[in-house]
Amino acid sequence: MTSPNSNRRHRVVIVGGGFGGLQAALKIARLPVDLTLIDRRNFHLFQPLLYQVATGALSPAEISYPLRRVLRGRPNVRVLLGEVTDIDLAAQRVGLRPIAGEAGDDSVPFDTLIVAAGAQYTYFDHDDWRQAAPDLKTIEGAISVRNRILRAFEAAELESDPERRTAWLTFVIVGAGPTGVEMAGQIAEIARDLRDNFESVDTSQAQILLVEAGDRVLSDFPPVLSAKAQRSLTRLGVTTLVGQMVVGVDGESVTLKHADDGTRRIPARTVVWAAGVVASPVAGELAEHAGLEVDRSGRLEVLEDLTLPGHPNVLAIGDMIRIRQPDGSTIALPGVAPVAMQEGRHAARVVRDRLDGRPARRFRYHDKGNLATIGRASAVADIKHIRLSGFLAWITWLTVHIWYLIGFENRLLVLTRWAFSFFAHGRGARLITEPAKREATDAPAPARDSE
Ligand SMILES: Cc1cc2nc3c(=O)[nH]c(=O)nc-3n(C[C@H](O)[C@H](O)[C@H](O)COP(=O)(O)OP(=O)(O)OC[C@H]3O[C@@H](n4cnc5c(N)ncnc54)[C@H](O)[C@@H]3O)c2cc1C
Repeated sequence: MTSPNSNRRHRVVIVGGGFGGLQAALKIARLPVDLTLIDRRNFHLFQPLLYQVATGALSPAEISYPLRRVLRGRPNVRVLLGEVTDIDLAAQRVGLRPIAGEAGDDSVPFDTLIVAAGAQYTYFDHDDWRQAAPDLKTIEGAISVRNRILRAFEAAELESDPERRTAWLTFVIVGAGPTGVEMAGQIAEIARDLRDNFESVDTSQAQILLVEAGDRVLSDFPPVLSAKAQRSLTRLGVTTLVGQMVVGVDGESVTLKHADDGTRRIPARTVVWAAGVVASPVAGELAEHAGLEVDRSGRLEVLEDLTLPGHPNVLAIGDMIRIRQPDGSTIALPGVAPVAMQEGRHAARVVRDRLDGRPARRFRYHDKGNLATIGRASAVADIKHIRLSGFLAWITWLTVHIWYLIGFENRLLVLTRWAFSFFAHGRGARLITEPAKREATDAPAPARDSE
């Protein structure tokens, strides 16, 4: 990993300024190298709180932080706004499509490359559902969901036909992992909170259906916590439909299939997608160039030190990888922020070790536990075999999320908003920002800062 030209410093390029890439960048910035961080967005996004943007509890800017600001004042660091389209491992160059300005000679050379491009939702070969059932992966997706939820209540207020009104007041969330559970709980709370804001419709009559193909909610948690979460959801007014597969989404209804009951169509105008993720297409691009394969979820297999087989100067981290073990098997660690962050810090150690002439070490994941919130003062936590639920778990969830949020200003703002919401049941960002017909999640409009 030494630079062929001894007059220049070692060049490290990081693709992706999410949880993994940013941690790597913060550590590598301290080394005697020239670092370039490339992302197609100019901000780091705190995805765990996207559902709060989708439900008007927080504004987009409160969970995002400009990458240039995080990495400012470091003369050896360059931040580039661009979408990586090609990775040439032989020539050691990353090709990118600029997001701003004209296309020029847009390739960036590297001595060491760290790829942290994350994952995206999959609609299981039904991309046509995407338009009717936006996901929560981006600010645009969250705003689209927020628009649809708030618009549904407005439409119900205007609707005189009881069946059509019921369809407007039926909200379906697909996937009962942490995001689906959080979303369902929040929609139930909005419906309750908005009760006295409408004249002819009783928003608390809204039906919130949480659909899960597996046999329980929060399947990554111990069954006892799943059961507690399920009870909390029921108390909030959420109907959980487990063992049900979504087989149709058309903007007016959702069709579900159950092994015993056959199929049934539920009229519902608002559907939120929170099921199934696949690795970023960048993983496939990298695999193709390295002569490797990806698994069914599009994840790339890396060695124990997170380098690509046959390419010790290329590392991949975060949601887009599986890791080969000493016995030849591979594991996919959970697709959560702590995994990506620890891998990011490990990638920085690999760079430092190699600069110092030491061999790269094996990555070891330290599992700090699992958290999910269900609603106001309700959460579940599984932390090193300590199982918490209710208020104590919620306080733990709150503390962890504030701690990991980037930027002191954002921490303060979010804390203030949460305190206000807790006591006043208020939602500061209850705006419908797009008329229905202009909304398209596949061609998103840029988010405005303080929406
Ligand atoms: C709605 C939601 C809720 C979640 N809640 C939790 C939670 O409560 N707790 C938890 O631990 N985890 C949660 N996660 C998972 C967590 O966010 C991910 O595991 C984590 O973001 C993975 O980090 P990463 O670095 O691999 O990818 P990301 O953080 O997704 O970062 C990838 C980065 O790469 C950039 N990028 C992608 N492709 C390109 C390209 N071609 N060119 C340039 N840039 C590119 C993206 O813009 C992005 O900035 C949640 C995820 C979602 C979507």
